[in-house]
Amino acid sequence: MNRKAILALLLVSVILCSTGVVSAQPAPTEKYIAFRDDDVQPFASVDTLKAVNQVHIDENVPVTLGIIPHPYPGGTGNELLQDNQSLLYMRSIATNPLFEFAQHGYTHINDRLLPQASEFAGRPYAQQLELMQNGQADIKEAFGVTPSTFIPPFDKGDNNTLKAAVALGFTHYSSSPGDFHTVQSYEDGVTIEAASVWIGATNITAFSASIQAAKSATEQFLNGPQSSDMFVVAYHVWAFDSANGTVDARKIELLRNYIDWLKTLPGVQFERLDRSQWGGSNALVALSSAVGLSVLSIRQSRLLVFVLVGSVAIVLFSTYAIALHRRLRRSGRRD
Ligand SMILES: [Zn+2]
Repeated sequence: MNRKAILALLLVSVILCSTGVVSAQPAPTEKYIAFRDDDVQPFASVDTLKAVNQVHIDENVPVTLGIIPHPYPGGTGNELLQDNQSLLYMRSIATNPLFEFAQHGYTHINDRLLPQASEFAGRPYAQQLELMQNGQADIKEAFGVTPSTFIPPFDKGDNNTLKAAVALGFTHYSSSPGDFHTVQSYEDGVTIEAASVWIGATNITAFSASIQAAKSATEQFLNGPQSSDMFVVAYHVWAFDSANGTVDARKIELLRNYIDWLKTLPGVQFERLDRSQWGGSNALVALSSAVGLSVLSIRQSRLLVFVLVGSVAIVLFSTYAIALHRRLRRSGRRD
């Protein structure tokens, strides 16, 4: 076989191998699910926050925490530093990539400037900028994290809210689809991701019904025509309280079951609202557990394909080089 024929054979082999490896992988359209926990604040129950967060830790599913920096408007100084129990807990999870520290307004108090409840929308730009800046600085001082996602209280912001967020370096914004008449868009360097569904209720039956409704909405998002690639499941941490203010274990279990159900759906990846790398599980969980393999992320799978194809190519070309070398040596002896 001459050199050209060997080279052609090698090329065909590499192409066939790479096609085979790639087609062996499922090719899911990337669909992201993000959890948004609003109303994380000092002087509230840390036990409930810990219990809800533990579900995310156990399931290895990230959550964006919407932190209210200054819930008592009459208070002075950084209120995030004034509740020691909350402060210590928040600091203990601040570097865990499962938890995104986002900013949820400043006081979270309805200023009654609009017919609907709002803290930010309706205020002049300069005021919004100042409030947002104060809260951002408080979060940074208390937890050493600069939030990159802004969530206006009552899911209500306006053009000035977005402008202030841009000015302060926020890269993500999440509220209701009504704010900018979009479920997902990119404006002035900020990605807007509206809440897709809310879960939670005081009554356990209503809570369970909200999970069922969330499942239906999730299926619609995954199966129907999509105008966005991210489904945002929002909840309030206090919605997991029981009537007497303690953690309601049944509600915690319902959240866990919902996440377990999400993991069985093909093509789903979990993501933080800021979409930063958190290195966790996703769509291939179902496939991997079905065949008893360890969990691979989509990114890891792509890397695996790359490494496999690369290895095959290296082996084939090495074999070719050795054969060529031997042939040259043989022909050298003859000459
Ligand atoms: Zn809120």
